[in-house]
Amino acid sequence: MPATQMEQLVSLCKRRGFIFQNSDIYGGLQGLYDYGPLGVELKNNIKAAWWRSMVYERDDIEGLDSAILTNRKVLHYSGHEDTFSDPMVDCKKCKGRFRADQIGGVCPNCGSTDLTEPRPFNLMFKTTVGPVVNDDNIAYLRPETAQAIFTQFKNVIDSTSRKLPFGIAQIGKSFRNEITPKNFIFRVREFEQAEMEFFVKPGEDEPWHEYWKQQRINWWLDQGLSKENFRVYDQKPDELAHYAKACTDIEYKFVWGFDELEGIANRRDYDLGNHTKNQEEFNLEAHCHENKESTTKLCVRDEETNKLYVPFVIEPSMGVDRATLAILTEAYTEEDLGEGNSRIVLKLKKHLAPIKIAIVPLKKNSAEIMNKCHELKKQLMKLGIGRVALENTGNIGKAYRRHDEIGTPLCLTVDFETIEQQPETVTLRDRDTMQQIRIATADLPAYLREYFA
Ligand code: ATP
Repeated sequence: MPATQMEQLVSLCKRRGFIFQNSDIYGGLQGLYDYGPLGVELKNNIKAAWWRSMVYERDDIEGLDSAILTNRKVLHYSGHEDTFSDPMVDCKKCKGRFRADQIGGVCPNCGSTDLTEPRPFNLMFKTTVGPVVNDDNIAYLRPETAQAIFTQFKNVIDSTSRKLPFGIAQIGKSFRNEITPKNFIFRVREFEQAEMEFFVKPGEDEPWHEYWKQQRINWWLDQGLSKENFRVYDQKPDELAHYAKACTDIEYKFVWGFDELEGIANRRDYDLGNHTKNQEEFNLEAHCHENKESTTKLCVRDEETNKLYVPFVIEPSMGVDRATLAILTEAYTEEDLGEGNSRIVLKLKKHLAPIKIAIVPLKKNSAEIMNKCHELKKQLMKLGIGRVALENTGNIGKAYRRHDEIGTPLCLTVDFETIEQQPETVTLRDRDTMQQIRIATADLPAYLREYFA
């Protein structure tokens, strides 16, 4: 997508109600965005597609929804308190503050090379819990959803009788005080993650890493990303986090170049190892923090040897906001219709479209037409295909334009023929081909169920 089209997309997001700057009326708050009436639908559909593929369509993954506020000890033993930081530099000339690894030695604001030495900046948001503000009450807003999956590992196993290999999936908000939030909703300070931790026996981790790589690539393609805008990058040994054995980044070609949508990491026994009681009993492969405070052993028993061991973890971790941006970027299309006409269409996959079908009256001041529209809306709502909208602008051209721009796959038009002739018929207009068919209302349920299946 060219940069000019990106500007159009950002403006469409505001104009049509997908994404707004947070606290807009007070000048905004940097790195925070709100999802509007259509954005919330799109994001919910993306999350539902992820949850369906992770939890409903499989038999080896359970779900979890944990608290955002996190006990300090969790993030101490996970390593976040000590190491979850980015190198930060200040420009001595313009006083701008940037991530040292992103600017290549020159201030991106004023071009000066007079920068401070890089120093670590911890990205976690700190707060206190309860009425007394002191060091004993410090808690953090979680910087990732994964840690609660590790700390609840034993509770999930005990309550579900799961055996390895199995996974725990979670979708939820995470918070990072990014030094330089940028690129619209790509790098923000409050965002959503969809993470799944898949627990396997050590030694079986490599084939499972390969397996999850393929699963996740297929999922992204199913959401409509085209192969040429999509890149899978296996991190080199010197790029890996110290605890990771392997990590694959799934990247999308955004306007500014290829950038990360998701990481699929082999985290070995690092996380459960960090949080387990009596670490010394286990032959841990990853180098973990010593832990004298955990009350539970996060391990399973090997049925053959009868020995306890700490499982390895394969983690596909996706950013929901980045997914939303990639899907919008891919879907945004400017079409030349000839004779000086053009249109903007969001070619979203049907299952992701915020509105599935718009009912459009030919004339809004005809009571008969409007009654029929209301009646049809009630009927179609019952099909369970998703959101059905009733347009009341009374201008068919405008309605089609609006629904092309927000990605509604079908527009259903009620006209005088609908109410005057038998059998009762309506027109259905396809967003992508703009072709119209006339269909009997009696046939609509079967047709639409199949169309949105
Ligand atoms: P980056 O290198 O871009 O900062 P990361 O490697 O630190 O990302 P992870 O910790 O692996 O990211 O988080 C998993 C996923 O969460 C990322 O692939 C990304 O999609 C999403 N994510 C991370 N940070 C942000 C952010 N600030 N804004 C939006 N999404 C984010």
